[in-house]
Amino acid sequence: MADAVYDVIIVGSGSGGGFLAGEIAQFGSVLILEAGPWTTSTTAPNPGYGSPEGRKFSTQINLGTYQPDNTFSNAGKAFFSIPMYMIEGNQINASTQREPRVVGGGSSLNVGAWLRPRAIDFDGFATETGVQGWTKALFERHYQKAETILHVHREPQQNWNPASVLYQQACQTLGIPTHVTASNRHRCIFCGHRLNAGVPCKYDSLMSMAITQIPKAIKAGATLLSGVSAQKVLIEGGKAVGVQYLQDGQLITARANKLVVVSCGAINTPALLRSSGVHLLNDNVGRWLQAHPGVPVDALMPGTTDWKTDRGYQWNVAHFGGDPASPNDTLIHASAGFPANTPWVAASVGFFGKAYKDQMRAFRQRVGAYIFELKPQNYGRVLGDINAPTILYPVVDKTGVLEKKSLNDFKQSLAQVSKVFQQMGAVATYPNVDLPPDILNSTLTIFITTSGALHPQGTCRAGADRKTSVVDTNCMSWDVQNLMCCDASVIPNALRANPNATIMALASRCSEYVITNILGKQLPVGPAIPAFGAGPNLISVQGADPADPDFPGVTP
Ligand SMILES: Cc1cc2nc3c(=O)[nH]c(=O)nc-3n(C[C@H](O)[C@H](O)[C@H](O)COP(=O)(O)OP(=O)(O)OC[C@H]3O[C@@H](n4cnc5c(N)ncnc54)[C@H](O)[C@@H]3O)c2cc1C
Repeated sequence: MADAVYDVIIVGSGSGGGFLAGEIAQFGSVLILEAGPWTTSTTAPNPGYGSPEGRKFSTQINLGTYQPDNTFSNAGKAFFSIPMYMIEGNQINASTQREPRVVGGGSSLNVGAWLRPRAIDFDGFATETGVQGWTKALFERHYQKAETILHVHREPQQNWNPASVLYQQACQTLGIPTHVTASNRHRCIFCGHRLNAGVPCKYDSLMSMAITQIPKAIKAGATLLSGVSAQKVLIEGGKAVGVQYLQDGQLITARANKLVVVSCGAINTPALLRSSGVHLLNDNVGRWLQAHPGVPVDALMPGTTDWKTDRGYQWNVAHFGGDPASPNDTLIHASAGFPANTPWVAASVGFFGKAYKDQMRAFRQRVGAYIFELKPQNYGRVLGDINAPTILYPVVDKTGVLEKKSLNDFKQSLAQVSKVFQQMGAVATYPNVDLPPDILNSTLTIFITTSGALHPQGTCRAGADRKTSVVDTNCMSWDVQNLMCCDASVIPNALRANPNATIMALASRCSEYVITNILGKQLPVGPAIPAFGAGPNLISVQGADPADPDFPGVTP
């Protein structure tokens, strides 16, 4: 049988690839190859209801009845589990990086906290790789477009969880500036389900690519193949001409006569390029990895209040070490949550499903915060290939000492978070900032090297010079014609913000290049983009879930 031919093949349907697909599908023929399952209503967007398939998938994972396909994660097929080595030269003390594997990628699994980076980040892009035109002003309309499509809005106070309210009040008393995140969870019923499960929202209220851009692309004629794993970009005569992928154990070739876009995320994009031999042409493939190492902080609250119930779990983050102009700012993620970790059960972020919920139930008097180091100064690297990638991210040297900047950032941040918890009335916090320095250092080191790092970026970074980058300003490969990367991998250096918003803004920017320069079409003249926050308002209805003992009431 002849190979199928498309104008554009996009590998990966996450924040980068999914967004791009939705923007370009009406201008040419598009094939989307996605390794993960499709769990969303085919009539999406259908926020608030979801599909029976999606509800089943999500419920099974949440209850722990889903059959995982590996031993690392309860969430099984929703994630790739990739070994990550955080201690230099140490092959034993490995963390596990969970990378999304589902239609919509990280946009389907994430917390939905929408953050634009700080102004200083845009200057940093040019300083790091000389990339041109990646300015705040030129990105503005791309952020606005994404925010409109994803119904980004601020959470009304009545939807905040009680710990977030208290945390913000305590910050205000202490004179610590706070910012409240916006979110792209539209008509979220705050059932507490998805945040705990780390799976796609069972009611489709998370405005992921799976319910926004991917259905839009399909409606415009794009083909989505889910559950297929790209093995290689086919390169002939220095040009990307197609992709080989595995479907039901068969190796199949699809051809692209204009463009191949690799959007597999910051770990799997360099891994796929390595499987395709691009690293032999450009040694920067897989280099320059930066991520956001994190430490969970726990506080024990007095009294009998059940901090676990109601609208998910608290995640009040000191975004520390970010902007030198405002280093102490705290970010309040109202109504979002990560586990309050404890010295007794050192859970990590990559820990989802029933085990996660059981732990939350067991520690009802704890509130938690999560500290990200947003500006690490060290770099890591992705090695291996698409079927066995490996991450080296040595934040700790051979002697077991955490890199100085990270250590200082975390200590200062921990001191601040502890002060806020004390102001809230906490009777104990952990890690305890008053521990003897050696013990505190090793406690932080253990937390960081076991809980890994979130938000990997920069492994195929964009730049003005191929000596220090993998793709150019338009995210086109320096070394292979008709090859684009469009995802977190192209970000030139770590953002001082969670990256989802910026990846979509980047994909919007890439889509204009593809439509005009690759497909030779005119950009549509659309209606003016409404200002930030002007999208439809969040409609909050109280909901519940009979399959979940904490939230009885709604049919799964
Ligand atoms: C649990 C969690 C919570 C998060 N919370 C937030 C948040 O609140 N706010 C925020 O801004 N960011 C958050 N993030 C980060 C954000 O979601 C990611 O940075 C973003 O989704 C990355 O987009 P991407 O396009 O680079 O990759 P992804 O969205 O990861 O997409 C890559 C896609 O490629 C597919 N793929 C990989 N390899 C292959 C292959 N060989 N063949 C076919 N398909 C393949 C994957 O299955 C995946 O769907 C969170 C991430 C996680 C995991």
